[in-house]
Amino acid sequence: MKSRRVFLQKASLSALAISIPSIAALSAKNNLTESILKEDKILRVAIMGLGSYGTRVAEAMQDSKRAKLVGVISGTPSKVETWKAKYGIPAENCYNYENFDDIKNNPSIDAVYVITPNALHKEQSIRVAKAGKHVICEKPMAINAKDGQEMVDACKAAGVKLLIGYRMHFEANTLEAIRMRKSGELGELKFFQGLSGFVIGDPTQWRLNPALSGGGAMMDIGIYSINGARYMLGEEPIWVTAQETKTDPVKFKDGIDETIQFQMGFPSGAVASCLSTYAMNGLDKFFLNGSKGWVEMQPSTGYGPINGKTNKGPLELPHVTHQTVQMDEMAAIIFDGKVPEVPVNGEEGVRDMKIIDAIFKAVKTGKKVMLS
Ligand code: NAD
Repeated sequence: MKSRRVFLQKASLSALAISIPSIAALSAKNNLTESILKEDKILRVAIMGLGSYGTRVAEAMQDSKRAKLVGVISGTPSKVETWKAKYGIPAENCYNYENFDDIKNNPSIDAVYVITPNALHKEQSIRVAKAGKHVICEKPMAINAKDGQEMVDACKAAGVKLLIGYRMHFEANTLEAIRMRKSGELGELKFFQGLSGFVIGDPTQWRLNPALSGGGAMMDIGIYSINGARYMLGEEPIWVTAQETKTDPVKFKDGIDETIQFQMGFPSGAVASCLSTYAMNGLDKFFLNGSKGWVEMQPSTGYGPINGKTNKGPLELPHVTHQTVQMDEMAAIIFDGKVPEVPVNGEEGVRDMKIIDAIFKAVKTGKKVMLS
């Protein structure tokens, strides 16, 4: 059995797809357990973009049981050398931004995790899909809904999965709050508040360059309040209103929002009131109010531990590094067809992008924008 496992680990994605049913048949014959079979299906990941978050994901993946860092895509040869040495990455699994389409000929990589500036996600993800590899892409998936939809379509056409790095969708205390809401313990949901903000430093960074970021705080962290409102309330908004404040137009030039307050209305009548800012520190709070109970989380989306309390007492599920859990769960989604409690697929990403588009339109027009 061991040699079969080794063979499977080395097999290409397409070979894997062919091999799994026959292995399943064999397992029945040889009494192989489901868990032994699962051991075979390790998600072999190449990270694209070896920056701050890429480094965090690489470190966290060291503790993942079903995902392993096996490759890199980078424009900086010195970083590639460091990562090769640190993570034992073979030379043949190292690519740059010019040649990474060749990954299609590399059977030892299953998925590429795109962790580059926002405006690059679309083109890079589509190239990965065309190379026949699953795409994991950081949030925001793109810089508008149209681009996000093109990514969804390209991945569908290529027959690969597209997953967005929504790590909070796997966080235990967040899932407990969602369980409470679903069970009816909170009663009728009326109100959500989401606050997302920090004071951004270096004015020359890509986050403050609209060509690379596609927007300011909203794209970067406001998206947490949007996404959080949706999973905490369990509904999709039908309208948005939004107001922008800009105190430093030099640092926050055209196309870079400094502070936006926005409101969302939901079919049930629930409303969300949110703040997204690059000008205030330490804002990371969710509050959900229902007719029978409430949940408050602060911090609510940071790297953890998440600090939550409810009308019944504290949320005390243990902290596990978010990206470690996320990568294990993504392996299960890709290989076992696992359906997560809160989706992380491309369509989920597009939903957030549509709301961001609508918020930008509401800021520009000063009017309520309906979402279809
Ligand atoms: P970063 O600046 O630290 O890293 C970006 C990487 O992209 C760098 O290695 C850089 O060299 C590379 N890159 C490739 N082409 C580039 C170009 N043309 N210009 C600039 N850099 C280029 O940024 P980061 O904080 O790692 O963010 C990367 C992505 O990850 C963003 O989409 C961000 O929103 C997302 N992110 C997600 C989380 C999360 O918790 N899910 C946290 C942080 C960042």
